[in-house]
Amino acid sequence: MKTYRIAAIPGDGIGNEVIPAGIEVLEALAAKRGFALAFEHFDWGSKRYLETGAYIPAGGLERLKTFDAIFFGAVGAAEVPDHISLWGLRLPICQGFDQYANVRPARVLPGVDSPLRDGSAVDWVIIRENSEGEYSGSGGRVHRGLPEEVATETSVFTRRGVERIHRFAFELARARPKKHLTLVTKSNAQRHGMVLWDEIFFEVAKAYPEVRWDRELVDAMTTRMVLKPGSIDTVVASNLHADILSDLAAALSGSLGIAPTANLNPERTFPSMFEPIHGSAFDITGKGIANPLATFWTASMMLEHLGEARAAAGLMRAIEAVTAEGVLTPDLGGVHDTRAVTNAVKRALDRGR
Ligand code: NAD
Ligand code: MN
Repeated sequence: MKTYRIAAIPGDGIGNEVIPAGIEVLEALAAKRGFALAFEHFDWGSKRYLETGAYIPAGGLERLKTFDAIFFGAVGAAEVPDHISLWGLRLPICQGFDQYANVRPARVLPGVDSPLRDGSAVDWVIIRENSEGEYSGSGGRVHRGLPEEVATETSVFTRRGVERIHRFAFELARARPKKHLTLVTKSNAQRHGMVLWDEIFFEVAKAYPEVRWDRELVDAMTTRMVLKPGSIDTVVASNLHADILSDLAAALSGSLGIAPTANLNPERTFPSMFEPIHGSAFDITGKGIANPLATFWTASMMLEHLGEARAAAGLMRAIEAVTAEGVLTPDLGGVHDTRAVTNAVKRALDRGR
């Protein structure tokens, strides 16, 4: 039997609630579809950091490298500054494994209310540059603690990094029915990196005559997402811009609790990482009401990446059957908890093709 080795890193907060739910659903699905998933569990999180001083133990990334995929929850705890936790766990994996293409679909699932009048118009894929840009990590602090203290945070745009993400975006846009791509930029105000970002897009576009494209400044993009959602299909944006726009996209599709993401290393030199886009959600941790649907949708993206397209589609159908039935957690206006939604998805899998 085909067996995939999956590294499970629940991390912090509700990561420890939604990742076990995801594993439960994935195991039920695999049994039905004739493949196996061998999960190995990693305790990498803020508890480990506070006890040992490291999120990732020595040699950890080398071990992680041997897996077929990484199934990740969230990182972030009240006791640890966010830049320490993010740079201690998530970013070393994304950057170390060159997961430069971050794919974030947004769609209003059946039975889910969008805050938009015409929620059904939301059917987008946002592609986020995930290896450089504003989150390159370049910069520093000088004259620490003195009145003349200065901090720099340098955006880094490389020809190679920009070209590969635009090419990835055009490929993905071409594979979707509308074949439409929007370039998000801020090259009016940021006249170096963002201008290179635009120029390389125009170059890459020439190789994809079948894809229609347009260009939008990031501030205007927020209004377009709210007022003209049907004019958008596939979107490519820098690390920071897409981070912000995809939370907006999640809200417009109903809740942060349903939005999935894949951090892809398209060349498959390294394993890719699959995670819900939400964080550790301190306010609901331990209450058993975290929405597991983002994690299930993420699991579907992971199966697709592993080559189990039929199982991936079956899981999506099960998720949609459950939202259509109205088995929803409180973030979606429902009264059900994580357990009830997980059980409902497993039942839908049993019924499904
Ligand atoms: P968050 O996503 O944790 O929470 C934002 C809001 O959305 C909260 O009200 C939360 O209850 C709600 N929410 C999120 N996921 C939900 C779910 N599955 N079901 C129901 N409601 C859900 O974002 P935040 O509050 O900005 O950050 C909290 C911590 O998480 C911080 O430490 C932050 O750095 C970290 N964080 C980590 C990641 C990641 O690991 N990828 C992403 C975002 C934030
Ligand atoms: Mn984010």
